[in-house]
Amino acid sequence: KTELLQTLKGKENVTRSGKKIHIYANIGSVGDVGYVLENDAGGIGLFRSEFLYLGRNDFPTEEEQFQAYRQVVQTMAGKKVIIRTLDIGADKQVDYLNLGREDNPAMGYRAIRICLKQKDIFKTQLRALLRAAAYGNLSIMYPMIISTEEVRQIYSIVDEVECELNDAGIPYKIPEQGIMIETPASVMISDELAEMVDFFSIGTNDLTQYTLAIDRQNEKLDDFYNPHHKAILRMIKLVVDNAHKHGKWAGICGELGADLELTQEFVRMGLDELSVAPSMVLKVRKNVREME
Ligand code: PEP
Ligand code: MG
Repeated sequence: KTELLQTLKGKENVTRSGKKIHIYANIGSVGDVGYVLENDAGGIGLFRSEFLYLGRNDFPTEEEQFQAYRQVVQTMAGKKVIIRTLDIGADKQVDYLNLGREDNPAMGYRAIRICLKQKDIFKTQLRALLRAAAYGNLSIMYPMIISTEEVRQIYSIVDEVECELNDAGIPYKIPEQGIMIETPASVMISDELAEMVDFFSIGTNDLTQYTLAIDRQNEKLDDFYNPHHKAILRMIKLVVDNAHKHGKWAGICGELGADLELTQEFVRMGLDELSVAPSMVLKVRKNVREME
């Protein structure tokens, strides 16, 4: 069976009727890039940048981040690399941020909320990303978005960073910028958000948590945590339709994207991309290729 999967390397993700979909991989460290290439993923659909911030005593410098991002885009040699900005807080804590205890961390001070409040942290990461974008096919993705106002604020900070790099004569590129759709709010206003961004990537892990009101980390609730819930599937369809209405693409980077029972339904819904663990890339490809 493994042998069969191996023969799918180098083949297209195409259904028997000729419909194509991108299959990318999710990674959490620079060391994982090897697995992405080994499994013939078309790109990196979610690079969790938290690895740069976790397990250390202070923030990573702009230079450290720039080196890491550049290394990844260069290793991927022209294939798309979607780097998600800092998604810290909730289940991912760093001591030096001094976030303090929260009663409800999943609904707390996290991700883009930290970045918009503590602009210095955000600007350092954006500078590194814009600089690295000059070396390859880099896209930026913003997590936990709930409003168009947040996107406007992000763009104004990106403008600031651009001006600063310009003035300093440092090479950079403004990359493709998209958002994660992982809150019910962002699903419901996805028509408006689609006008503002280049792409959507649906984070089904958090979207399921917030839609079903079920803590994704509470094992007692495992029997209730159902990402196949009709509410989630309808949300995905709505998001894809709203993206396409505005000429934008939409993918899934949450765990559900690798659910082999749903691959064919996702293709039928019109999803443009599925980003899955490197070990799942060829299995999803197989499913797509077996589809009428
Ligand atoms: C998600 O929420 O589905 C997602 C991809 O992000 P993370 O699992 O890192 O929260
Ligand atoms: Mg998430």
